[in-house]
Amino acid sequence: MPMAEDATGPATPQVQRLQDRLLGWYEACRRDLPWRRTRDPYAIWVSEIMLQQTRVETVIPYYERFLSRFPDVLSLAEAKPDDVLAAWSGLGYYRRARLLHEGAKSVAASGGEVPSNREGLLDVPGIGRYTAGAVASIAFGEPVGLVDGNVARVLARLFALTDDMRKPAGQRRAERVADAIVARSDPGAWNQALMELGATVCTPRAPKCEACPVAESCRARAEGRAEALPVMSAKAEPTLQRVQSLVAIDGDRVLLARRTHERTFGGLWEPPSADGPAKAKAALAALFPLGRVRKVGRVEHVLSHRRLVVDVHRAELTARATAIPAGYDAVRLASRADLATVGIATLARKVLGTAGVLEA
Ligand code: SF4
Repeated sequence: MPMAEDATGPATPQVQRLQDRLLGWYEACRRDLPWRRTRDPYAIWVSEIMLQQTRVETVIPYYERFLSRFPDVLSLAEAKPDDVLAAWSGLGYYRRARLLHEGAKSVAASGGEVPSNREGLLDVPGIGRYTAGAVASIAFGEPVGLVDGNVARVLARLFALTDDMRKPAGQRRAERVADAIVARSDPGAWNQALMELGATVCTPRAPKCEACPVAESCRARAEGRAEALPVMSAKAEPTLQRVQSLVAIDGDRVLLARRTHERTFGGLWEPPSADGPAKAKAALAALFPLGRVRKVGRVEHVLSHRRLVVDVHRAELTARATAIPAGYDAVRLASRADLATVGIATLARKVLGTAGVLEA
């Protein structure tokens, strides 16, 4: 198929055929997902933020709970940060929740209406090109494309794009193609169809070309190099970071500290920790009135650019703890019931499990 980004005005016959086939397939085969049953721009915005770097099956219960807790943009805008993070607790990439909250506050301050086109959406804090394209096309029917990892792969294969999709130039190229081939008849369905094809048929490895509804339009398939595309430069290896974590127990409660907002996991509660090798534990422990400190295990956790190796220590508190360690802005004692309702990252849950406070 000719290079789609050169297309302007009405779709070429080839692009029209591609659109008809893909939209027909999507209508017949699409998965029934909760955010596909609505045109509410706020709900679609929430779903798209949650879906970034997170699997569909994981997102569904979070999406449903989040929307029943914060059913519209104003309720989210008025929520306390602690409550937003608690609703996100366990979903990971907490910066997304903070930015979604900031975005809702910004929309509320501007009158409470989610902007109805891509340009307006891009002015909302935390909304980037992908999310703006998704909300604009799905909720408002604006004929704009979008590019996530699935769409980049599908476009690279359909049009044999050899740009590096991890580089900004490759992303921009894919965005130009996505904008050029968007189906004006139903831009939201079209964008979701491209994502669905990438998620279920045009998979990173072993794409199911025999079952692909657009195989006849696919240059990579015709040239026998579907699996060689897209070109992706190697990701940098995650760097190793050692952390010392202190689980301080007071009867049936545990000491938690809240991370300052600018840090990874900012705003979330956890047993206090200090970055560094084993000796960092001594400085941390010295802040609190503790009995004997015992190392009880080790936890590993991989973030996008870092591999955290966390030594877990446990001790009894012998008096009230009032110190707030560096990197935190509050401390509290939490009961088991509290642990179910405050914002706690998965890593902190692993630490608490290793120390015997939560089920490991
Ligand atoms: S034919 Fe194969 S490579 Fe091309 S879009 Fe379909 S699944 Fe992907």
